Amino acid sequence: MVRKVGVLALQGNYIQHKRMLDNLGINNILVQYPRELEKCDLLIIPGGESTTISKLIDRNKFRKPIMNFAQINSVFGTCAGMILLSSTKEANNLKPLGVMDFKAKRNAYGRQVNSFSGNLHLEFDNSNNFKALFIRAPKVSNLGKGIKILATYKKEPVMISDGRHFATTFHPEIGNDVRIHKYIMEQINA
Ligand code: GLN
Repeated sequence: MVRKVGVLALQGNYIQHKRMLDNLGINNILVQYPRELEKCDLLIIPGGESTTISKLIDRNKFRKPIMNFAQINSVFGTCAGMILLSSTKEANNLKPLGVMDFKAKRNAYGRQVNSFSGNLHLEFDNSNNFKALFIRAPKVSNLGKGIKILATYKKEPVMISDGRHFATTFHPEIGNDVRIHKYIMEQINA
């Protein structure tokens, strides 16, 4: 049962995630110190700048605590947050946490001007397409055996899960469609 969700508030879109959770009536806190993880059953790592978040994770001594947290709890990473969850090799100030078994290629659609929105079919919801915002989004590859694809865009996997953790290449926290956050809460509660 999700009692409390933590949103990692070091850099990036954490306020938007908080607003989504508030809209869903889910108890949440902005996490700024490792000890605050103790009270959470799910951690959201937001989009932003993966190299900056990576640096701040180490500067604020979050690396070990998040890796330990992820062994027994769920983590949900969006865009930069997804890159941090990946098992991509360390390079150029970016040191992923290796929480999920896949690789991510940063800025795979191009630069800021190549950001776009696209209609996704969600595997878990047949009602309507999800209008997803891709902002300097990554692409994923080398998906491990345990990884399930929950949404694709033009044949690219854009939402994945290994059963415990979740990740999107897009920004489900922007806009008013709460379905992705709601689905993840339901999965953790199930
Ligand atoms: N391209 C960014 C990075 O690599 C991620 C962009 C985002 O989170 N919107 O960190």
